[in-house]
Amino acid sequence: MQIVDIRTIPLTWNATNPCMSAGTVSSSRSALIVEIETDTGLIGIGEAGAAGGPMISTATVIEHELKPLLMGQDPLMIERHWQTMFSRTRQHGRKGIVMHAMSGLDIALWDIAGKVAGLPLYKLFGAYSDKVEVYASGGFYQQGKGLAELKAETESYVARGFRAMKMKIGRYAFTGTNFRQLLNQPDLCMVTPEEDLQRVATVRAALGPDRRLMVDANCVWSPEVAIAMGRKLEPYDVFWIEEPVATDDIEGSAEVAAALPAAIAGYETEIGLYGYRELITRKAIDIGQPDLVWSGGFTECRRIAAFAHAYNMMLSPHCFSSALLFVPALHFAASIPNALMIEWDQTPHALRTELLNEPFDYDGAGFMKVPNAPGLGVTLNRDCIDRYRVG
Ligand SMILES: [Mg+2]
Repeated sequence: MQIVDIRTIPLTWNATNPCMSAGTVSSSRSALIVEIETDTGLIGIGEAGAAGGPMISTATVIEHELKPLLMGQDPLMIERHWQTMFSRTRQHGRKGIVMHAMSGLDIALWDIAGKVAGLPLYKLFGAYSDKVEVYASGGFYQQGKGLAELKAETESYVARGFRAMKMKIGRYAFTGTNFRQLLNQPDLCMVTPEEDLQRVATVRAALGPDRRLMVDANCVWSPEVAIAMGRKLEPYDVFWIEEPVATDDIEGSAEVAAALPAAIAGYETEIGLYGYRELITRKAIDIGQPDLVWSGGFTECRRIAAFAHAYNMMLSPHCFSSALLFVPALHFAASIPNALMIEWDQTPHALRTELLNEPFDYDGAGFMKVPNAPGLGVTLNRDCIDRYRVG
């Protein structure tokens, strides 16, 4: 079996009312789809990361740098291909765009492997479970959204059976760092810390005492501000505080983790096993959140899971892109012993709801069944691709 072609498909969906975190304004959502075709006619699909920059950057690395390394090769030699791609790009790779590109290729290669084996990926990996707890990821800042709308949003998640919800916090003028000043439109939907605590109180009241509430600061706080805010959050029984400080401030995150009773979760923005080794061994996190399409695909994220397991650490994979990230994240989480739950983005996003022909199998009580067809077990909706294809 040989790889005979590798293609990328850039897709963009434009939002009518952008969602905002402390560190982002999402006026559009994109996904770079990867297809690997073999001489047997089998095609593997995946998504490559492109968040934070134009898709053409990741697509160029795939088409011009990594594709030549894989053409003509046996698609089932996945570890060998991963190591080749990582080693041959080491002078300008190791993280960022190159790993985002490798992630999409790795996922597509594993999709082929599952199809060849006739097994869904989570079973090919040696399944731990056939369903995964999903949490409602929402609670964004948005123009026109006040406490009443936030309460109604939370109640809708309760009605749909979710046992956990995550909301955004930290969109303040002063966060102890210059991070927010450097953003596009930093003043949109800005709140005071007191108003933010009212948002958290509103969500906690709507969730009731038994559901988990997580908050996400998207890296904007200094350690001092994070610790001060973490103490003010204590009455609301926050299960985790996500990415409280800058990704590279490992000492700062460890200080926050040591100071607060809430778990520190992160860092979706950290990449790869070597990055996670530092976060874990230096006690910067209590819960790991690697992203399949940013952090090296199944091959690398399964290594991160094994490393975390050696420290009795649970993972809650970050999952905030198209359905072709969500489905791999389900297979990944169902295949490891230390998956806590995965993120299910609840913001409006056509590439999450329309990209696949197969609907998600949600049980109405907080759990998602993993697709059981071979490989990823899903197929691309070509109408959706025609509608949102760009470039
Ligand atoms: Mg996050």
